[in-house]
Amino acid sequence: MVDRKSFDLDSYTERIQNSPCFICEMIAGRLEGNHVIYQDDAFIAFLNKYPVLYGYVLVAPIKHKEHVTGDFTVDEYLALQHAIYRTAEAVRKSVETERVYILSLGSQQGNRHVHWHIAPLPHDVPFKNQQLEALGVENGVLDIPDHEMQELAKLIRQNMDLTV
Ligand SMILES: [Zn+2]
Repeated sequence: MVDRKSFDLDSYTERIQNSPCFICEMIAGRLEGNHVIYQDDAFIAFLNKYPVLYGYVLVAPIKHKEHVTGDFTVDEYLALQHAIYRTAEAVRKSVETERVYILSLGSQQGNRHVHWHIAPLPHDVPFKNQQLEALGVENGVLDIPDHEMQELAKLIRQNMDLTV
């Protein structure tokens, strides 16, 4: 059981709306405490810096695209879905999960670079606390030490290498 720490939504909002695209920054090597799992010419997979679930991963295209379908050809979109499949399977092999959630959110007011959330719901969460309830930050985020985040990224990376 991982403890939670409070999440300051106001300062996060201020930061995300007034900083360069954090995904492009990460791709350029400015990690700002993020943990990259995998990166190639097409996509990057990295741990959610503010995880509400253990093993919460984000996947994004390398190119700064914004619209979840509109900025992709169908072939580009399907290639990215293959990457998301591989990543989700690696997450499933790396952490205990009853069900893996996959969704794309983002905002034209701050989180513009399109990305997919791969969020593994643990076992035995009551129904009323599942789905969108499981993804909110009202109760804070998981307080996972940096070295453990590194290990988690490494484990998921190893499992990705086994998934085609
Ligand atoms: Zn970007």
